[in-house]
Amino acid sequence: MMPLLSFENVTKHFPLPSSLLGRVLAGRRDRLVHAVNDVTLELNENETLGLVGESGSGKSTLGRVGIRLLKPTSGKVLFQGEDISTAEGRRLRSIRREMQVIFQNPYSSLNPRKTIRQIVGAALKVRGIRDLKQQEEEICQLLRRVSLPVRFIDAYPHQLSGGQRQRISIIRALAVRPKLIVADEPVSALDVSVQAQIIRLLEELKKEFRLTYLFIAHDLRVVYHISDRVAVMYLGRLAEVAETEELYKAPMHPYTRALLPAIPKLERTGVKERVVLKGTVPSPLDPPQGCFFHTRCPEKIGLQCEQAAPGWTQVGAGHRVACFRYGPTMMKDA
Ligand code: ADP
Ligand code: MG
Repeated sequence: MMPLLSFENVTKHFPLPSSLLGRVLAGRRDRLVHAVNDVTLELNENETLGLVGESGSGKSTLGRVGIRLLKPTSGKVLFQGEDISTAEGRRLRSIRREMQVIFQNPYSSLNPRKTIRQIVGAALKVRGIRDLKQQEEEICQLLRRVSLPVRFIDAYPHQLSGGQRQRISIIRALAVRPKLIVADEPVSALDVSVQAQIIRLLEELKKEFRLTYLFIAHDLRVVYHISDRVAVMYLGRLAEVAETEELYKAPMHPYTRALLPAIPKLERTGVKERVVLKGTVPSPLDPPQGCFFHTRCPEKIGLQCEQAAPGWTQVGAGHRVACFRYGPTMMKDA
C-alpha cells in the first residue's frame, strides 16, 4: 500500500546570517544550520510513527517540512504519492487541510484573546461549516468527546489547565478532519498523570477518526506505548527505524542503545548494561565529518566512522540501522 506521507532524502538547512562585523572583519559568509539531513522515512496510513531524539536533533523541523509549514532545502515530500515539496497557494492550502499539528505548548499555540468557540469555529470554517448554530453543535460534541464540559465553549485558554488546553488543541486539529496529525511533543509540558490521559485520548481518537500520527518526543519512554514504529534521530539524521517492540528488544544503533537504559522500569528493553554517552551533541552549524555520532559513540569501530556517513543496513523486517557495525560500508552521498 502507498504510504500516506513519505520523506525522500529530505534535507533542511537554515541560513544563519553572520553579523555584519564578522563579515567585514573576517570575510565570513552566512553559515548553515544543518537541521535535517538526508532523511528518508514513510508513514503508513493509520499508523503512529514515534520520532525520538534529543532536543535540537531536528524533529520539529522534519515534522514541519512534512506538513509543509516549511519547504525542504532538497529532497521530496510525498503526500498520498503526490509531490508536495514545492506546492504553493491554493494547492498548498488544500493539502494542508489534510494535515494538522498539535504543539508542545498549549499556552502559546492557542490565541489568548479568542474563546474556544472562536478557536475551534475557525477550524470548522476551514471545513466549510460556517453556520454558527451548526458550529456550536459540533464544538459541544467535540468538547464532550475529549471529556471537557460544554460550558468551556465560551472560556478563554488562560482559564483552563495545561491538560485542558491540550485537549482544546486536539479538538481544533480534529475539527478540520485531517488524515495526518503531527503531534510535536504534545505531552512534554504536562504532568505525568495528565500525560497518560492525553496519550490514551490520542490513541482512541486515532481509531475513531482513522488518523495517522507522527508523534514526536525527546525520550523513548513516551513513545513506547503509542507507537507502532519508532524512528530515532540524531543531529538531523535518522539512526535507526524499527517496529516498536523490535526497537526496544533489539536496539542496534549505539545511540539507541545509549538512550534505552535511561528509561526506568522498562524491563523489556534488550539492553542490560548502562551506556553513558560522553560529551554533548555537536552543533548543527558544524556537524562532524563522517557519522554524525562518531564523536560520542562508545562503539566506534575505526577510521571509516570518522570519514564516511554510514548508509542504511536492513537488519530485519522493517528494521534498518545507519551504522558501520552492521553492514556494508556503503557510502552515502555527502
Ligand atoms: P528538535 O525539535 O529536535 O528539538 P528542531 O527541529 O527544533 O529540533 O531544531 C533543529 C536545529 O535547527 C536546532 O539547532 C535549531 O536551533 C535549528 N533551527 C530550527 N528552526 C530554525 C530556524 N527557523 N532558523 C534557524 N535555525 C533553526
Ligand atoms: Mg522540537
